[in-house]
Amino acid sequence: MVRKHILIVEDEEEIQELVRYNLTKEGYAVTCLESGEEALQRTARERPDLVVLDLMLPGVDGLEVCRQLKSHPATRDIPIIMLTAKSEEADIVTGLELGSDDYITKPFSPRVLTARIRAALRRNVPAEAEDAQVIRSHNLVIHPGRHEVLVDDEPVGLTPTEFRVLHTLAARPGWVFTRGQIADAVHGGELVVTERSVDVHIVGLRKKLGEASQWIETVRGVGYRFKE
Ligand code: CA
Repeated sequence: MVRKHILIVEDEEEIQELVRYNLTKEGYAVTCLESGEEALQRTARERPDLVVLDLMLPGVDGLEVCRQLKSHPATRDIPIIMLTAKSEEADIVTGLELGSDDYITKPFSPRVLTARIRAALRRNVPAEAEDAQVIRSHNLVIHPGRHEVLVDDEPVGLTPTEFRVLHTLAARPGWVFTRGQIADAVHGGELVVTERSVDVHIVGLRKKLGEASQWIETVRGVGYRFKE
């Protein structure tokens, strides 16, 4: 199993060492940073699995780091656990509103921190697994978990059957599917799709996809395929 990489952003050396010692013992790969500037650069570059972020930092403070990480697509899915002092209650609220995943007030027990980290990493897994199934092809994004299709980043409203037809084709670009195969693939639950109705769904699908409909090709005498 690949070791999870935790980035610790904390300017107090004592806390840095305490956290580093305990997380390394738990089997995590740990990087310690002392400033918000460094945190912003290295998080975007290294894509750690989680960031432990102190709020009181010299220069760019923790809240600003949190705001920037959570507003960039490349870093917004990385869980953040804030380290705060009890007196920073207003900051805790702001941090959570900015998208921080959890917080711990100082002084804290290392066991509580590792438990919170484990929990945050666990929560983040479905999103990761789901993301792996997302199909990005040409100007289309097909998101099976959300049943969502984007054309040039704009959502397109498809019926459940149209969605399944598109997903079936796009999952294997270049592969020619017969109408029977498409009907079988999209058939599910109470949904009955006949070979003939596949053509009707394709017509509806193409209409809604607009220019992106060019990626669905008719293969004469056989069926359909998603262009490679
Ligand atoms: Ca600090």
